[in-house]
Amino acid sequence: MKPLSFAFHSPIDVLTLPEFTNAGIRVNVKRDDLIHPFISGNKWRKLKYILEDARLKGKNHLVTFGGAWSNHLLATACAGARFGMRTTAMVRGEAVSNPVLSLCRIFGMNLKFVSRAEYRDKQALYQQFSTERKDTYFVDEGGFSALAVHGCAEIIDELDQEYDHIFCACGTGTTLAGLAKGIVKHQLRTHVHGIPVLKYGDFLLDDMQMIAPDLTSQSIYLHTDYHFGGYAKHTDELLRFVTRFSSTTGILIEPTYTGKLFYALTDLARNRFLKKGERILVLHTGGLTGILGKHEQIVASQAQDIIY
Ligand SMILES: *Cc1c(COP(=O)(O)O)cnc(C)c1O
Repeated sequence: MKPLSFAFHSPIDVLTLPEFTNAGIRVNVKRDDLIHPFISGNKWRKLKYILEDARLKGKNHLVTFGGAWSNHLLATACAGARFGMRTTAMVRGEAVSNPVLSLCRIFGMNLKFVSRAEYRDKQALYQQFSTERKDTYFVDEGGFSALAVHGCAEIIDELDQEYDHIFCACGTGTTLAGLAKGIVKHQLRTHVHGIPVLKYGDFLLDDMQMIAPDLTSQSIYLHTDYHFGGYAKHTDELLRFVTRFSSTTGILIEPTYTGKLFYALTDLARNRFLKKGERILVLHTGGLTGILGKHEQIVASQAQDIIY
């Protein structure tokens, strides 16, 4: 059997932006984007124990769910290929092609497009698909599960100093729940902050309770005003920020998750939510193939203000 581990601790970089210097805060970035190009960032953290559990149960066919640009689908496809498991994805919406789905196919994933109405009942779709098969294993959209929380909590095991605040972008809230769990485990005083990339992000606290029932929300903060119109939505201001950030730091970000995260951080530094002398860790959750869906808009958004 192929071993399940990469045995890799992601490095920590220092991040200097004028907003941070002005606010007198020290900001580090945990580069989970460097874990793997396709089993990227938090997706590896989330899949690790899911893969292990599937194996223990003798299942070698992962069945999962996602939208057409899902980083989770690509990560699952690549992890399946690497660790010797078959993968099937139920993809939300009408059949389309794009670079992320092509990569999924190249990694051997079987794609089934399902209507938005059908997609709402994932368990029914899974039951239908798995009745004739004995080796299937259900993996929820985005890897949402207690096992995934467990994997994300390991991020905190890798830290060698105590931070005042730790920040991450949130889709399902699994990564945030994991960070909070790791903080409790190590008895740190670090405040845990999530930037929901969807509208009305407060619902995440309830969702997090489902996969991490022992978690108290006292030291978890959700900053719900940085969704830029909702999931996968953006403004020109956000796109310009992505370019400014990437071109001045050499760290690539994208508009769907990490763009909103780092934008929020500069805003919170500017309005003094973050206090002088505080130490901050930001988790770069990777997902950079998201760039492929928006590269033309990103470049177009900056054309107007770059005049040499
Ligand atoms: C999937 C993803 C997230 C969301 O993580 P959750 O655990 O679902 O909240 C954040 N950032 C990137 C880059 C992602 O691909």
